[in-house]
Amino acid sequence: MSYVVSPPAIVCVPVTGKSERFPVHRIYCVGRNYEEHAKEMGFTGREPPFFFLKPADAIVAIEAGSTGRIPYPSLTHNLHHEIELVVAIGKGGRNIKAADAQQHIYGYAVGLDMTRRDLQNDMKKQGRPWCIGKAFDHSAPIGPITPAGEAGDVDQAEIHLQVNGQDRQRSHVSKLIWNIAETIEHLSAAWELQPGDLIFTGTPEGVAAVQPGDLLEGGVAGLGSLRLGIESA
Ligand code: MN
Repeated sequence: MSYVVSPPAIVCVPVTGKSERFPVHRIYCVGRNYEEHAKEMGFTGREPPFFFLKPADAIVAIEAGSTGRIPYPSLTHNLHHEIELVVAIGKGGRNIKAADAQQHIYGYAVGLDMTRRDLQNDMKKQGRPWCIGKAFDHSAPIGPITPAGEAGDVDQAEIHLQVNGQDRQRSHVSKLIWNIAETIEHLSAAWELQPGDLIFTGTPEGVAAVQPGDLLEGGVAGLGSLRLGIESA
């Protein structure tokens, strides 16, 4: 096969304890999936889960023990951090029941759903798509994927984010409004999941702005931590 332009490289994420990497197909994200975060965004109560996507090449894969770097993105004056548990799909399917969801999971990682909040809020007000606020280049930093069998009880794990050593977000995955299995059930009713899909499961309360020069350190118990520096544009 030959192509009229160079085909894109396969986006991939390291896997703890393996030399093989996880190739990324799609990035699904769940909106407002922790109650206290829904409240800080001006919403209350449990609503049906909703989803948005980021392009696979928004991934910034951070190797174990190293610090990732992203440039401060264009057009925004309010870049927010959202620390999230990420689910990596190993076996695809459609209409997956929550009771069967576990067998579709390859593993878990720590990710950041970086958000141009000012642009997202403008789009919300106008009833327009969130893409410019959510799906920009370098908007999905992620650490290594831990295979499910080595990840411990992720459903109960603590999740946290510090910026320059100060606590910004600290909660537990058990506070997800729609847990991992329920999220897979809802998502696979709308799209056929494929091996290589990543699901950013939502962020707890405490989202706030970062500046060039800031160092973010986040983690989920059992999955290690992720470090990310914000550089000048
Ligand atoms: Mn998010």
